[in-house]
Order: sequence, then structure tokens, then C-alpha cells
Amino acid sequence: MDKKDLDAAYELKRLLKTGVAVNQTKEAIRARAEVFATFANVAELSDLKKWQREKLFEDAKTGYLDLRPKNIQVVHRWAYRLINDCIDKGEADVSQFSKELARPRRIQWLPQDSLITYDYAPRRHATIETWKKFCLQDLWALLVSSKHLFRRCPICRTVFVATGKKKYCGPKCTAAAIGPRTDYMRDLMRKRRAREKQRGIEDGNR
Ligand SMILES: [Zn+2]
Repeated sequence: MDKKDLDAAYELKRLLKTGVAVNQTKEAIRARAEVFATFANVAELSDLKKWQREKLFEDAKTGYLDLRPKNIQVVHRWAYRLINDCIDKGEADVSQFSKELARPRRIQWLPQDSLITYDYAPRRHATIETWKKFCLQDLWALLVSSKHLFRRCPICRTVFVATGKKKYCGPKCTAAAIGPRTDYMRDLMRKRRAREKQRGIEDGNR
């Protein structure tokens, strides 16, 4: 490979890298996950409220997700199906989905690195089909991540993006969840006091 080819290869790599899940900062990953979680919560896109739709495109921008009005339907359909299946059944059939993903066409060994060429055009020649593949590739990356980012809130059943051991979707549901436990504690204390009182009587009788 001469220098010109090498430069072209690096250029292509740079372009590809600005295509699929380039930005792996926590903020970008989270923003992408927020988009997919929003999709997982609505069976139909028309169920999205105006503010949710606005937030969706804002998150997509932050997450470098190539969401477009023309690919949103198919990206929503897959996110809805796969995320809900993974959460509820612990598994999802991806045999059809994987056909929609970008496939590696060629691998080149560069001096310090390997270059994978996918079956889509570089970003500057991207078509709507490419944008779709980019988005689905990002969904795939989140689904196969060892961190299971998507959880269902046991109180309101909403799918949310989890950080750490977070169990509930937000402060409201956490409070609701703690409610019964507080009642439980109160009950426990009442029983304990009654027991102690009883013991006191028994002691007095002795
Ligand atoms: Zn909740």
C-alpha cells in the first residue's frame, strides 16, 4: 500500500469513525440510550407527546445518533421490540434485525491498526439507508453491552436508562416504593413496643 492509499484509508477511517457511535463518552452513550428508552416506552410513535419528541431529537443530537424523520419509524420499531424483549424475556430474536445492520466488507491491516470497511458509504455520501444502519448499529452496541442499561421501573413499568444500582425511574417512584416500607417499619415498631410492654408486664409479675 503506497502513501496515497494509506492516506485515503486513514481518511476513510476517520469518516467511518464519525459515522457509527464515534463518541463513546458517558454523556453521548447515555443520550443515545435515552432515545432508545423513549422508543421502548411507546408502541406507536404517535403516542409521543410533543415535548418527548423534542427531547428525543435533542438527545439524538447529543448522542451523535443519526435519527431522521425518514428513519425514525424503523429505528423505533426495532428499539421497541428488542429492548422490551430483552427486559421482559431476558432474550430477543435478532435474526431479522441483524440483516439490517452494516456488514463488514473488507479488512485492511494498517501499520498500527486494522481498518474495517462497511457496506455503507462514508458519511459525506451517506444516504437515508446509511443513516438507518448507523442508528441500528448504535442500538445493537447498547444491547450487547455488558452493562444492561435499560431497566423497567417496578412501580410505573416505564423503561428507563439505569445508572449503577438505580432501581426506580425517578424520585416519585422511589418515594412510592419507600412508602409501603415505611408502613412496614411503623408496623414493626408497634409490634416491638407491644412485645416490650408485654415483657414489662411479665417482668412486673415476677
Ligand atoms: Zn417509575
